[in-house]
Amino acid sequence: MAGVVLQHVTKRYGTVEAVRDVNLDIHGKEFLVFLGPSGCGKSTILRMIAGLEELTSGEIFIGDEDVTHKPPKDRDIAMVFQNYALYPHMTVYENMAFGLELRKSPKKDIDQHVQAAAEILGLDQLLSRKPKELSGGQRQRVALGRAIVREPKVFLMDEPLSNLDAKLRTQTRVELKNLHQRLEATIIYVTHDQTEAMTMGTRIAVIREGVVQQVDTPDRVYNNPANQFVATFVGTPAMNLIKGTVVAHGDRSALQVGSQSFELPDRIHQSLSRLSTDALTLGLRPEDIFLGKGLDSEPVLNATIQAIESMGNEHIVYLTVEGQSMIARADNAWNGHVGDTIAMKLNVQRLYAFDPSTELSLLHE
Ligand code: ADP
Ligand code: MG
Repeated sequence: MAGVVLQHVTKRYGTVEAVRDVNLDIHGKEFLVFLGPSGCGKSTILRMIAGLEELTSGEIFIGDEDVTHKPPKDRDIAMVFQNYALYPHMTVYENMAFGLELRKSPKKDIDQHVQAAAEILGLDQLLSRKPKELSGGQRQRVALGRAIVREPKVFLMDEPLSNLDAKLRTQTRVELKNLHQRLEATIIYVTHDQTEAMTMGTRIAVIREGVVQQVDTPDRVYNNPANQFVATFVGTPAMNLIKGTVVAHGDRSALQVGSQSFELPDRIHQSLSRLSTDALTLGLRPEDIFLGKGLDSEPVLNATIQAIESMGNEHIVYLTVEGQSMIARADNAWNGHVGDTIAMKLNVQRLYAFDPSTELSLLHE
């Protein structure tokens, strides 16, 4: 299976720079996810790979071939969109066979390909149905089947699950991941949904305002984010940020947050040389804050409870610390009340540190 390489790919619409100097080396058989907020340029990059959009500058290779100026039909790719349109008057079989018929493939080959794809997707019992006789999830699978029968070098998928309801989305996510393994195909997948990215991607390219922020495995994106944007975009509820000032504390350092302060762990103390001023932003995920019992040695910040959301299995607790908003999770046994001032214990091993002026992680390696 072919990989895809983007070199200095830029796209401007008038004065808007939708995609800025993107360099990517997408490996063959990889499931690479473009993840970023709406409008960050994900679809534009995908459409340039497909050949549906001209590049302003840069080059794109599929396999070893420079496809920068090739029309879509010569790129050997298949695209699955969010708004997949099936032909309503055709059966599932006919919808899946249509692309191959246009190519004038022999009837026997077409049949073989459609049957094989139908089996992979669990559509074999539905081949004679019309789209209106299918559920949303089944229709989505037919759209995937249409792409699979063509045996393209690369699959491009643009938010293909976003029209499905939550349960079906979860189910189809698992199916897609299995499908990737069975097809051993290169898949480039666009989403704004970090759960999809984390669960399906071999690697994730996090994008902000047309610029790639980090390309890494889900594990590294989560545990070793390059900057504050990546750190706060991945994870729900999002990572908390604690702004403060670094002050000397014997031969160590501490963070002063309003009227409170606590000693910084060695790991962060040693990274402070990368800081441009004495302003520091710490990051801590909601699951790394303890509101109930915890180790006494952990640093503590006093916080006021602003709101509590009970989720059944846990509480999401909204707090303020010296005027800064924070979110923590607490198990069902915890009982706090809005207005209470409580001790927030921080899991110091899990603290992240960012330079507020560049937003880069001091700990990224
Ligand atoms: P995403 O898929 O990440 O939501 P897009 O790639 O669709 O983002 O869009 C990126 C940026 O480019 C947006 O600011 C969007 O408004 C702009 N854009 C996209 N297509 C066009 C176009 N045809 N003309 C002008 N601006 C466009
Ligand atoms: Mg889009």
